[in-house]
Amino acid sequence: MTEILRSSPASEVLPSACPLDCPDACSLEVRVEDGRVVKVDGSRLNPITEGFICSKVRRLPEYLYGPVRLLYPARRVGPKGGSSEFQRISWDEALGLAVDKIREARERWGGESILPFYYGGSNGVLTQDTTDARLFRRLGASRMARTVCAAATGRAATGLYGKMPGVAFQDFVHARLIVLWGVNPSASGIHQVPFIQEAQRAGARLVVVDPRHTPLAKQADLYLPLRPGTDLAVALSAIRWLFEEGQANLGFLAAHATGWEELRRRAQPWTFERAAEVSGVAAKEIERFVRLYAETSPAVIRCGWGLERNRNGGSAVASVLALPAVAGKFGVRGGGYVLSNSGAWSLDSAAAVAEPEASTRVINMNRLGETLLERDDPPVKVLFVYNCNPLATMPNQEKVRRGLAREDLFTIVFEQAWTDTARMADLVLPATHFLEHTEMSRGYGSYVLYRTPPVAEAAGEARPNPEVFAELLRRLDLARPGEPETADDLAAALLRRSERIQGELERDGFATPDCGFAPIQFGDSFPLTPDRRAHLVPEALDREAPRGLYSFQKDPATARYPLALISPATSRTISSTLGQLVRKQIPLEMHPGDAGARGISAGDAVRVWNDLGEVRLAARLNPDLRPGVVLLPKGLWSHNTFSGTTSNALSPDTYTDLGQGACFNDARVEVEKLPGSAGILPASSNSEP
Ligand code: SF4
Repeated sequence: MTEILRSSPASEVLPSACPLDCPDACSLEVRVEDGRVVKVDGSRLNPITEGFICSKVRRLPEYLYGPVRLLYPARRVGPKGGSSEFQRISWDEALGLAVDKIREARERWGGESILPFYYGGSNGVLTQDTTDARLFRRLGASRMARTVCAAATGRAATGLYGKMPGVAFQDFVHARLIVLWGVNPSASGIHQVPFIQEAQRAGARLVVVDPRHTPLAKQADLYLPLRPGTDLAVALSAIRWLFEEGQANLGFLAAHATGWEELRRRAQPWTFERAAEVSGVAAKEIERFVRLYAETSPAVIRCGWGLERNRNGGSAVASVLALPAVAGKFGVRGGGYVLSNSGAWSLDSAAAVAEPEASTRVINMNRLGETLLERDDPPVKVLFVYNCNPLATMPNQEKVRRGLAREDLFTIVFEQAWTDTARMADLVLPATHFLEHTEMSRGYGSYVLYRTPPVAEAAGEARPNPEVFAELLRRLDLARPGEPETADDLAAALLRRSERIQGELERDGFATPDCGFAPIQFGDSFPLTPDRRAHLVPEALDREAPRGLYSFQKDPATARYPLALISPATSRTISSTLGQLVRKQIPLEMHPGDAGARGISAGDAVRVWNDLGEVRLAARLNPDLRPGVVLLPKGLWSHNTFSGTTSNALSPDTYTDLGQGACFNDARVEVEKLPGSAGILPASSNSEP
């Protein structure tokens, strides 16, 4: 039953693939000695990987065998609230306890009092939405809306193009203009950087739109440092100009798009001057950008996730994705856009789950704190967390913390590490890592799907997700004969629609999607909408956005909280994954002007706060930030600040205009120096952990 490695030769190099939440989906070479991983490197199986990987995944041996690895089932014996008093118990005892608590909650409060809470975690497709979904559907548990990331981008990309596959990384070398909008590939998605640089060497121009002067912004021909949440204004002013100046490709729009007349009408009020006033970017710079875009082909937009994390996020992404349609940039290699390519794969997840979707209530994960503290229809009595560290990653962190501290809540955390959330649990279950179990993973940047066997022995008593959820199904008398349970069964179910992909996986260990390795948008790959056209004002999105699609909601800053806090990714963690390896204190980054106005010098201890909470940490002066913006990376753990709180203590649990996504970058804050705290951290410390 257990599909994990139990014996191996003394030393060997084995192939694997990285399923972490990163577009690149690297192919790996893993050196294993006596069943333990000693080195992880990139291979060339996926040509995008080119034999190199990021520094974070190189540190996987530390992650796998470090002191924070969760090795055995354990139950809380100390008080709740972050105490680390746990007692090791057997798997049999642990599963028995989980079953008792689930049964009790279901009988007394109904199935909806059980809430599964999960995200990507190790991000393989076998460790989520397989036997776990089967279990929770049969229990009649509450359903969770998976909205913390890519909710707004997903809605916009699906509405406009049906999630059409995007321009492949390697095709960036064919572009004459590359626009990086709300994305920092130097930190996440590093394999895109060599292609961008190769294109630049061949004469391509580079434009970067971002509140931070990122490494690639420093090499760009044009940099637009806009205020967070104002991407929509800039993109609409570009669309307006294209139509007004006769630069819109009306022939393409007539043949391949709907809604463009309405988009034109909605962009009409957005002059460069108005966009400049809202975004803080000079009108002439916005005009320079759109002229460059209009006159250059092939032109590709790399749209990131930074622009979705605010009240206007969905409309902003829709307006950026509309640009190549309006300007007629499709139909050539290296022209169009790329966001997420996850739509290129059609895996049969219904076959793997083997249980129809339930009709129980839906809980938005961005409101976990509110749900735990305020919902009583019924209250959540059993919270089952897996592949996820919500105390570190969800908005309104103090509410989440108070919710997890509820004495009448039984929290199960099934994890690879003693995360901040695991320390708040009542029962912890150790999970295997992707190098320790059979996994399947797909890129959402590079076009590749892998099936990878375990390369190392499981640490301690860790077990794979599908196995544990299948065992819970059995113990709860919810299992049925013949259902897919093992990794092999589940993989076969997911792939049953495509013999070609099954064959390629068996032969090569990886496969490409039906659209191929490098599709040309509106060349050999078309929108996955019913009529294969782009829908520039889709009715469903127009209904969903509070004031209609492309309507701009003003900045939430107040006189009390004038600074915009952004929390982007860094190059050392993937959200909070690998956060235990970041041991040092992380500073708040401030523009020198904002710091000076508050009497703050580099290294001073500061308090950053708003009505939701506060964080105490050191300050770092960063002239690469635009004034009025402060930065604290996402994914930090409690040990990374003096107060044990992180940026999410300041993030509101409001929703994006589309998809009910998280609005992390709508946090508005004030900062003050803590008395008697000058120079608490060396001035050279930075936020790159
Ligand atoms: S995190 Fe990204 S860059 Fe790093 S190894 Fe995984 S896929 Fe490659």
